[in-house]
Amino acid sequence: MNLLVRLRERLNLTYLFISHDLAMVRHISDRVLALYLGKVAEAGPWREVSDEPRHPYARSLRDAGLVPDPSRRTTAPVLRGEVPSADRPPAGCRFHPRCPVAEDRCRTTEPALLEPRPGHQAACHVAADEATVSSA
Ligand code: SF4
Repeated sequence: MNLLVRLRERLNLTYLFISHDLAMVRHISDRVLALYLGKVAEAGPWREVSDEPRHPYARSLRDAGLVPDPSRRTTAPVLRGEVPSADRPPAGCRFHPRCPVAEDRCRTTEPALLEPRPGHQAACHVAADEATVSSA
């Protein structure tokens, strides 16, 4: 991984790096895309997505990260349920069967990928509402 980072800096390269290891993603990435069932849930600069995730799935990924300290216990809620089939994804928002803040509209209407901040996008009805309220 360090070799990849050095080569990127020395040769001005761009990588597309796919991983479930968030510590590794943090180490190598400038921008991240959180995908759920093949769709972008959230995209943006690593620091913003990590510090202020908008999408509940991105938030759960962030909260699931291990802290190398055995005395610390996480209070983050664990995602429930199984990942649905990508062949037949749920209607509306693909994440709604597992989302802790799903609403009725989430079961029927697929959220658009909106950009409440330049360069930071999220596909979530609730996140879009929160962005509208905070910008008013
Ligand atoms: S659109 Fe609804 S179900 Fe999907 S992530 Fe947002 S709140 Fe959850």
